[in-house]
Amino acid sequence: RLPRAGRSAVPVAGVDRSGRDNAFLSIRNVSKRFGDREVLRDVSLDARRGEVLVLTGRSGSGKSTLLHLVNHLQAVDGGEILVDGRHVGYVERGGQLVEVADLARARAEARIGMVFQHFDLFENLSVLDNVAFAPHHVHGLSEEAARERARQLLVRVGLGEHLGSFPATLSGGQRQRVAIARALAVDPVVMLFDEPTSALDPELVDEVLDTVRGLAASGMTMLVVTHHVEFAREIADRVVVLADGRIVAQGRPDEVLGGPAGARG
Ligand code: ADP
Ligand code: MG
Repeated sequence: RLPRAGRSAVPVAGVDRSGRDNAFLSIRNVSKRFGDREVLRDVSLDARRGEVLVLTGRSGSGKSTLLHLVNHLQAVDGGEILVDGRHVGYVERGGQLVEVADLARARAEARIGMVFQHFDLFENLSVLDNVAFAPHHVHGLSEEAARERARQLLVRVGLGEHLGSFPATLSGGQRQRVAIARALAVDPVVMLFDEPTSALDPELVDEVLDTVRGLAASGMTMLVVTHHVEFAREIADRVVVLADGRIVAQGRPDEVLGGPAGARG
């Protein structure tokens, strides 16, 4: 649950900001508790523009929570997160970060695209209108321009034949590709993927991974939570392993994940 808007203040003194100037996404000394349970402990992680970070770790290690904090779907208890130079959801006042009143607007302005495990599409809107919704209603593009943008994105994710379909008629893989197009529609500066294929039947996984691959190759800055090791090896510039709320390993895919399957003795 989010703290009341404007009430939450996070001290930024004590945050180590050294060396983050080249970072596009900067997570600094972040901690997060749920009740007595500390689910993230002093997590620091930077990503350069265009870098693809893959986050792995056992269930419960804090991966989803970390993604939620980046988009300020939940508030940090300590530390700070900057995306493209801004504290999403906060303004800095007198050495403290104070939560802004209009969080929905703050999130929209931050232009962070998120794709979750369970595709929460608008079931009463066509595929095209699902993707055109935020550009038109949140970002103020004309309806015509928003729909044209949506059409192009849906063609890009291979759904050009389904513009007028309703979500209920699509497969899980198609729905997840609509979710990706919808996230891309607001011209995101960062894309966050939280196990985008884990709710899919095995035969639908590849079409979604292909779409994510394409995005990685296009230079998008991305944080991707996935358990697909070969996929991680292929797209990641860096693999980061979380255990019990801490980063326990990070490095190039071959350093963290070992060589390709079959290459080890
Ligand atoms: P992961 O995505 O790596 O599986 P999560 O970030 O979902 O891990 O969860 C980390 C820990 O935080 C887990 O112990 C989980 O039960 C707990 N947790 C996550 N969200 C909440 C919440 N809203 N309230 C209470 N506990 C939570
Ligand atoms: Mg998770």
